[in-house]
Amino acid sequence: RAKKAGPGTVCFFEDSDDRVSRDRKALQSDLEGAIARDELFLAFQPFLDLAENRITGFEALLRWQHPSRGLVPPSEFIPIAEETGLIHEIGEWVIRRACATLADWPEEIRVAVNFSAAQFHNTGILQTIVQALAHAKVSPSRLEVEITESMLLSKYGSAASILNALLQLGVTVALDDFGTGFSSLTYLRKLPFSRIKIDQSFISDMLVQPDCAAIVKSVISLARDLRIAVVAEGVETADQLEYLRQISCDEVQGYLISRPVSADGVLALLDTKKLVATYAA
Ligand code: C2E
Ligand code: MG
Ligand code: MG
Ligand code: MG
Repeated sequence: RAKKAGPGTVCFFEDSDDRVSRDRKALQSDLEGAIARDELFLAFQPFLDLAENRITGFEALLRWQHPSRGLVPPSEFIPIAEETGLIHEIGEWVIRRACATLADWPEEIRVAVNFSAAQFHNTGILQTIVQALAHAKVSPSRLEVEITESMLLSKYGSAASILNALLQLGVTVALDDFGTGFSSLTYLRKLPFSRIKIDQSFISDMLVQPDCAAIVKSVISLARDLRIAVVAEGVETADQLEYLRQISCDEVQGYLISRPVSADGVLALLDTKKLVATYAA
């Protein structure tokens, strides 16, 4: 005798929190074998130097081609990798693959890799970098490591020692997503950054919010005085590019210039010189 569900009726259904956590566990166990199954790959997004009108390098962005889910974005699987400790193995894979790919590029082109906070606790990371550079026979000065302000907040001590060791090796360090964390000027004074990457939220708002433009201009001028180069992230319109050129931003990155491309796409971009023609002043 079916009865309409009403007050006092007990229903058994899966709590949506349970479903999310079960899905996450499935993703986690899939991620464990992703390297062995060759499902990870790197996409590369160019940096365009505005004074020289040429591509100076590419940022390596991790991708996971899941066998049934398709392309899983890093915002979904990097946090899982960080929580489970898989980030160490994955991070080392990224470094080795980025250096190996770099070996096929012209000498004047650099590659930037993103770091997770947990990697500052991996004492083997420097060894991995040295070996990857030596194996690929590329100069350490062509490798850049991107870290964020929030990573410094929790791991300042271990971060500082690893960053200084990287500097000793000749590897450069960029401060990613600048402006989104606690942008302490102390970091800029105490740590050896070669580059600041202004977060795309500032770039997307700077032409509609005068306060935002003021911040972008000030960061560029401060960085110039500190002899730190500036990259604007997430440039999507020609007007943004023109404005950044006017205020002497060093480099730009974003969909306007190019979306992240495959390793083959990198060689094609460098080959065609199409960008240089398109964005020449
Ligand atoms: P990120 O390092 O700040 O990278 C910039 C992100 O913005 C990338 O997303 C890129 O594809 C996207 N982007 C670039 N230009 C534009 C634009 O013009 N408009 C918009 N809307 N987006 C743009 P992606 O590849 O999804 O990566 C997201 C984040 O995942 C990265 O942010 C980085 O924090 C992290 N990540 C990526 N690869 C790795 C890795 O190998 N290791 C670690 N630890 N984190 C990584
Ligand atoms: Mg980055
Ligand atoms: Mg960024
Ligand atoms: Mg960002």
